[in-house]
Formats: sequence, C-alpha cells, structure tokens
Amino acid sequence: MNGENFCLSEKIVSSSYVRQGSQARRGHEQLIRVLLEQGKCPEEGWSEATIELFLNELAVMDSNNFLGNCGVGEREGRVASSLVAKRHYRLIHGIGRSGDIAAIQPKAAGSSLLNKLTNSVVLDILKLAGVRSAASCFVVPMATGMSLTLCFLTLRHRRPGARYIIWPRIDQKSCFKSMVTAGFEPVVIENVLEGDELRTNLEAVQRKIDELGAENILCLHSTTSCFAPRIPDRLEELAVICAKHNIPHVVNNAYGIQSSKCMHLIQQGARVGRIDAFVQSLDKNFMVPVGGAIIAGFDEDFVEEISKMYPGRASASPSLDVLITLLTLGASGYRKLLSERKELFCHLSQELSALAQQYGERLLHTPHNPISLAMSLSSLQTHGGAITQLGSMLFTRQVSGARVVQMGVEQTISGHTFRGFMSHSESYPYPYLNAASAIGITCDDVALCIKRLDKCLKSLRRETGDSEHVTDPAPLTGLEEQSAA
Ligand SMILES: *Cc1c(COP(=O)(O)O)cnc(C)c1O
Repeated sequence: MNGENFCLSEKIVSSSYVRQGSQARRGHEQLIRVLLEQGKCPEEGWSEATIELFLNELAVMDSNNFLGNCGVGEREGRVASSLVAKRHYRLIHGIGRSGDIAAIQPKAAGSSLLNKLTNSVVLDILKLAGVRSAASCFVVPMATGMSLTLCFLTLRHRRPGARYIIWPRIDQKSCFKSMVTAGFEPVVIENVLEGDELRTNLEAVQRKIDELGAENILCLHSTTSCFAPRIPDRLEELAVICAKHNIPHVVNNAYGIQSSKCMHLIQQGARVGRIDAFVQSLDKNFMVPVGGAIIAGFDEDFVEEISKMYPGRASASPSLDVLITLLTLGASGYRKLLSERKELFCHLSQELSALAQQYGERLLHTPHNPISLAMSLSSLQTHGGAITQLGSMLFTRQVSGARVVQMGVEQTISGHTFRGFMSHSESYPYPYLNAASAIGITCDDVALCIKRLDKCLKSLRRETGDSEHVTDPAPLTGLEEQSAA
C-alpha cells in the first residue's frame, strides 16, 4: 500500500493501528531498498513474507500482469494454468531479448530487474566464496555441460582457426561432450599418479601445446571439483601456461563454489596467469532444482560476449530459484552451510576410514580433494561381480551418490575410447567406492550411509567368503578374525 492508501485506511481502522501497520510494511521495504541499492546478498536471510512481497512487486511491473493490457503479439506471457502462473510468481516473460540473455526486456521491467539483481547477488556470493576478483557473471538456464559449450562457441569467434581443446582427463561425460557438441576435438591429457592422487600432467600439457601449436588450440579446459582420487587441476600452473602461450582458459568448477579450496585455486590462477571463464552448477552449489549454471569471468567484456552468444530469450526459473534461495539464506546462512559441509567432510572421512579398516581396506589418501573421498575395494576385486553387486546393494538400500568404480572398464564416448573409464586414469591400481560431502549433507546422512555400507560389505564378505572357502581358505580366516573382532 502506498501513503495515500494508508491515509484512506485510517478512516476505516484506528489511525494508530494503521500507522503501526504502515511502519511494519516499511520494515520489509527497507530490506528491499538495501538490495536494490547495493545489489548484494543480504547478510541476514529474509522472511518468506518479505520475499513474496518483493516478488509480487516485480510481477506487477510485467506487462502480462498489467490490468489494462491488451496483447496482440505472438508472445504475450499468457499462461493457461493458474498453477503454472503461481509456480513462477506470475513472472512469465523469462529473461533477455531475442539477441542477448542479459538484455532488458521492454515488456517485462520486473523480470528484467529480477535478472540483473540475481546476477549481481550471485557475483557477490562468488566473491564471498573466494573468487574476490571475479568481475562479472550471469545465470544461464542450462546445466553445466551446455554452459561450457556456450563458452567454447564464444571463443570460436576469437580463434576461428582453432580446432583443439586441451583437456586434463576427468571421467564425467558431460565435460567431454561439452567440447564435442561445440564442434571441437578434445585432446585428452592423462593424469599422473602421485601417491593415491591423480593429478594434472603439466609436462604433457606443455608438450601438446608445442606439438599442436598454440594458434590451433581453442582453449585449455580444466576442472576443479571432481571425484577422488582425482584432485582439482593445477590451476595456477595451467593458468601460467595459458598466459605464456596466449591460450584461453575455461575452468569447469561444477560444484566448486561450496569449497573454499576450489575457489581459492580459481582466484590464484587468475592472479598469476589466465582464466577467461569459470562455470558452475546452480543445483550443485545452491540446493535448487537442476537446470541452471553460472558463467563467470574476470573480464566484463568477455562475459558479456558469452551472454550475447545465447540466441533468444531464456527461462527465468533458475534465476528466480537461486535469488529466492539466497534471499532466504542470506550471506550468513550460505556461509553456515559451507562451514557445515566442511565439518561433515572431516567427519565422513574419519568414519569411512574407520569402516575401511574393519574390512582390510583403506581410505585413499587424497588430501587435495576437498569434497569427494574414495575407499579402496581391493578385497572385492578377486570376486567377480562383487563390486557391481555392492553398487546395486547400495542402490537398493537407498544410499544414493555413493559410486563404485571398477578397474578396466572401457567406454567410448563420441568416438573416443577411455580405458579405465570412471577412474580418470587408464590404469588406476585399485577399485574403489566414492562418497562426497556436498552442501546440505547432514550428520544423519553420514551415519546412515556408513551403517548401510557396513551392512552391505558384511553381507558381501559372507557371500564371497563362502565361495572362496573351497579354493583358498587362508585369506578367509584372516577376514573372519577381523569380523569377529
Ligand atoms: C555435474 C558436473 C558436470 C556437468 O553436469 P551437468 O549435468 O551438465 O550440470 C560437469 N563436470 C563435473 C565435474 C560435474 O560434476
């Protein structure tokens, strides 16, 4: 209500009450004012009432909600189902204009404001999470793989003759396909084994650049967040190599915002060398539905160039979801989630390590991976099928996200055959099980996962123990003793 309406209200209800009500409203508006003024994530989260008030104010600014609007265009923000309208807070026009996802939409001042504010609040969070010198970013309604594709397609204009993308191997199909879909030829750089860790082979990267010629290389595509025993790429060194050879550098930071280590790597890489863009998933970092990503960079012009590559308008849903989430949590709430995640990572690591010991296995030593852990499954290796069986047992017991990785799997993706697929290496010495401490994980998740994993391993040991009995009783005795202990 505006001042005039409050005055009128005083004729209906006692003016002192109305004054109190109008002051209460000013409380909400004050929060909105600060957001508009600063474009930053509020320190303290907002109540649902403030958020809904704000979203309603935005929605009435869009032409589809104008009381007197008469639409004769082919896209007028008409929605048949009121459930759908509600699901989107009546923000129907999406974001962007035909040529540019970041452009202001004349029919939709509210949605345009939402878009700009979201990008600004998200940039604030990227800085808070550790990439302090990030210059610009925008939310795209595509998951990480497609967003990487968009970055590569943008670079094509800058380097029309380049065909190759140098890519330290990470066994995640969308990473690989993001390059193939963009029309480039990935040049896979195998990792080196350092202790238990799989790490960037810098010499091999350098050799490939010399061999192919820097001008033929579109960019280097590195990765921070990944499954153990792979660890984040050596971003600083890679960024220096890229700067030296004038090769663009795109970083896949899929679920790295939640880790100060991943963010620090990006910050340092950009400081000492070259990083053109870094891409992260909205759902993996902000607990929102799948479907959005953030493309960020250190040069405003380049980030704008990427946003201009997006053809047409785009869904506002991912932007809306992440804005609502960040306003709900506030910077303090998000920081709290990050620190809880870190603590639970230590907890999960201790618990997995203890469990591993009980079964004659061990937690692989991967201190450089801040999110994902791996526990060896060497003793299951000799029993054909036991490892996949463990995978399906965990699935049946509703332990999701724990993945078992067998040795010697071959997989061909878009014509490229990966040996030892899933393990980021042609010949990792052990099969293993992955578990991750990702944002939102709870103490109960850890406890239940360990309990169920224990059950699965116990029952597998019973089974495989029996079959082993006939041929080789000796190791069985060892195992049985451990289980009795
Ligand atoms: C999740 C993820 C991706 C991208 O997956 P999308 O489904 O496209 O979001 C890419 N790389 C890594 C390392 C990932 O974890």
